[in-house]
Amino acid sequence: MGSVNRAQLFTTGVNTRVIHHKENFSEETGSIMPPIFPTSTFVHGNDGGFDYTRSGNPNFRILESVLSDLEECQFASVFSSGVAAITAIVSSLKAGDLILCEENLYGCTVRLFEQVFKSFGLETLWIDFTKSNFQEVISNHKPAMIWIESPTNPLLKIIDIEEICDFSNKMQIPVVVDNTFATPLLQKPLKLGATLSLTSTTKYINGHSDALGGAVCTESSVWRDKLNFAQKALGLNPSPFDCWLITRGIKTLPLRLERQINNAFKIANQLVDNPVIKSVRYPFRPDHPQYKLAKRQMMSGGAIVTATVNASQSQTYSFCKSLRFFKMAESLGGIESLVCHPSTMTHASVSKETKLKIGITDSLIRFSVGCENIEDLSADLNQALGIIS
Ligand SMILES: *Cc1c(COP(=O)(O)O)cnc(C)c1O
Repeated sequence: MGSVNRAQLFTTGVNTRVIHHKENFSEETGSIMPPIFPTSTFVHGNDGGFDYTRSGNPNFRILESVLSDLEECQFASVFSSGVAAITAIVSSLKAGDLILCEENLYGCTVRLFEQVFKSFGLETLWIDFTKSNFQEVISNHKPAMIWIESPTNPLLKIIDIEEICDFSNKMQIPVVVDNTFATPLLQKPLKLGATLSLTSTTKYINGHSDALGGAVCTESSVWRDKLNFAQKALGLNPSPFDCWLITRGIKTLPLRLERQINNAFKIANQLVDNPVIKSVRYPFRPDHPQYKLAKRQMMSGGAIVTATVNASQSQTYSFCKSLRFFKMAESLGGIESLVCHPSTMTHASVSKETKLKIGITDSLIRFSVGCENIEDLSADLNQALGIIS
């Protein structure tokens, strides 16, 4: 299937590979873009091995092939959202199992573990992987799984993936890395030893804020089978149309990201110079606490900038509201710039004590920098900062 030969594909550059796919279903028709297969079921015994869309569809397969190509790994499984991908992984555990988690995980991951899976007997332990002696914690508690995120949301902490995987692999404990913020273009967790690399494709991968999706990449066929089982058994499958949209979005991922990263770095530097701003976090700025690790682990600093404002919660809120091009909204990674107030938005479901403990204060803001002209973004920030100064 497809006109591009597989061996040839692995020697081509990533900008080419996101555009020319191994699977495209175009040989028979000459179509440049893959079709959408809006079918619930398939004739028994077909060559593609499809039977029912809850357990597979040509549009899933096309997207899985592009995603595994991006991550340079063997397998990818797609889901209806990032949260569905997390559910698929966790559903492979059993009551009494412990997940050792980085304490600054995405808010909905925390909610899923603490408010859903806890009542099924799953246990969690939260630590700061940048500070704790995690080797001791792992040896003492023998977790069934380790769950990290790097850079973390919204604090942009950088966690040493390779160091954690080296230790956990010896004890045969699977490590899950939520790679949503970095994307496989900036960081490939599986190459650093992770068992599973998870992405909310809703964010940078699709990049146009018009679909939800999730994916898990792995080199393990055992895990691939567990994930595909969860997809059909729990009904976590995406829709063929969403997969088609995300496949289309990926074609411009390298282009979009390049612009977004350039814009983000400039914005981080601009904010540092403003007296209204107390502190700025950006992984590739030398004042970032894990700057050296970030430089080693990531291809670039990404396109998210976090800042603390010298202002009250209501002033911080007014600042976010008075931005013109940075729309105040949840989510990130799209071509449009967004601003978020994590304490009342993405991390609203996290308890006040936990928020304070990990550093999500009322004056913290997160920028997802888009593809607009930098001059416009820069002027927009200056006018909104003017309001609270
Ligand atoms: C958005 C996000 C998720 C969840 O993805 P959805 O597609 O919204 O379900 C998980 N992890 C991170 C880091 C995210 O930003």
